[in-house]
Amino acid sequence: MRRLYVATAVIDYNGDALGDAVLVEEGRISGVGPESRFRGVPRVRLDGYLTPGVVDAHLHLEGLGMAMSTVDLRGASSPEEVAARLARAEGPVALGRGWNQEEFIEEVLLERSYLDKYVSDRPAVAVRVCGHMAVANTRALETTRPWERHPELVDRERGLLYEDAAYYVLERLKDTMDPVELVDAALRALKSHGIYGASSMACTAREVRALKKLEDKGRLGFRVACYASHSEWRLLAGFGGLEWRVVGVKLFADGSLGARTAALTTDYSDDPGNKGKLLMDKKSIAAEAVEAVGHGLRVAVHAIGDAALEEVLEAHRLLGEPSWLRIEHASIASPSQVEKLGAQSLWVAAQPRFRVSDWWRGKRLGSRIDWSYRYRSMMLRGARLALSTDAPVEPFDPIETLRAAVGLCGNPGLCPESENLRPREALQAYTLTAAHASGGPASVLGRIEKGAPAALALFSEDPTTMTGIAKAKVKGVT
Ligand SMILES: [Zn+2]
Repeated sequence: MRRLYVATAVIDYNGDALGDAVLVEEGRISGVGPESRFRGVPRVRLDGYLTPGVVDAHLHLEGLGMAMSTVDLRGASSPEEVAARLARAEGPVALGRGWNQEEFIEEVLLERSYLDKYVSDRPAVAVRVCGHMAVANTRALETTRPWERHPELVDRERGLLYEDAAYYVLERLKDTMDPVELVDAALRALKSHGIYGASSMACTAREVRALKKLEDKGRLGFRVACYASHSEWRLLAGFGGLEWRVVGVKLFADGSLGARTAALTTDYSDDPGNKGKLLMDKKSIAAEAVEAVGHGLRVAVHAIGDAALEEVLEAHRLLGEPSWLRIEHASIASPSQVEKLGAQSLWVAAQPRFRVSDWWRGKRLGSRIDWSYRYRSMMLRGARLALSTDAPVEPFDPIETLRAAVGLCGNPGLCPESENLRPREALQAYTLTAAHASGGPASVLGRIEKGAPAALALFSEDPTTMTGIAKAKVKGVT
């Protein structure tokens, strides 16, 4: 099938204008330029700016599918509203949390009949804000039959579940969630937002099986570079198809800033005596890396604190500065570490949205807040910066990432000007560089050129300008 996509403008990974038309044949780009160059081809007219499809360099596919099945029910003001919100949950099971009858305008109790009215085609469960009680629809009750296990904790007629019965139903429903459906739901949502490739981090055997099934059914249409979990990579190395492959292993050098387990060189400012927890040192990282590379894999190391980052930098040096080592997050970097990241041309998978979400980081870090999220400094010194979301940790919508990257944060204190990427830099880091950082089947994405997969994103406004990023919506095209 031949088709000419005509838009306001076609923009490459680096922001360069390539004309206004892209010719697509059998899923590949076969030409790009001004519309007048292409005759006798059916046209699809698009309102907006075509760019290479976005590549998310760090997310969790199955986790995203799971999170998409759960909606926030806090603040719902009636049983009807709870049910209507539940119906918006994507995925094979509709789960919601946070309703509270104290917030209902009228004093009525949520029960099964309300849920059935809005969700009847799949199991649905609404957990009360306290977590000790839930309401299930008929499908959820029939699928899990909680009265056989906890007869005294179930009001079958009204669909009310108390304590262990609620827990039991939720666990049973999670078991029934087909990983194929979860991954498929995640991929469909990503593609509808113009994302056509990703590094899926700490992927499991379940996810690998799901990807294989989806590709066998011709339902992938997305490039996945899997980084297998520490416990499973020996089992999964070498698995893959045309559009997905286990290309690497994900290691953890430390924990998180929120839990005060990210490894810092000096104490947490709000927890004297605590420096966090180093999970791997340079020697263990290097040893594991050598073994993984022997199996043809790349290595991605999670390092949030500056002490963890130091170990990865040292491991990188010990290994002879290979090009297959990536650093995930690199959230806290001292000035000398920023220099080293650049001098060693290291891959850094960055999550610009963390700048906004970790608004409380000053408490943890004190004056070291100036060392947080120094992504532009790293890039200008030579580090290879790839953008990502860590979804479902952050929203996967690329426009949210781009806004945070260029400094449209709502609070300039969180996004200092010196670390704001320019729109074109952000676009490149989110397309071509993210594709290369991901590797494997994703490495062919990221640019609009002859022979590349027809993975195109459509921005409603010009993504190479600040005003465009401030206003744009993005969706998938092909
Ligand atoms: Zn992650």
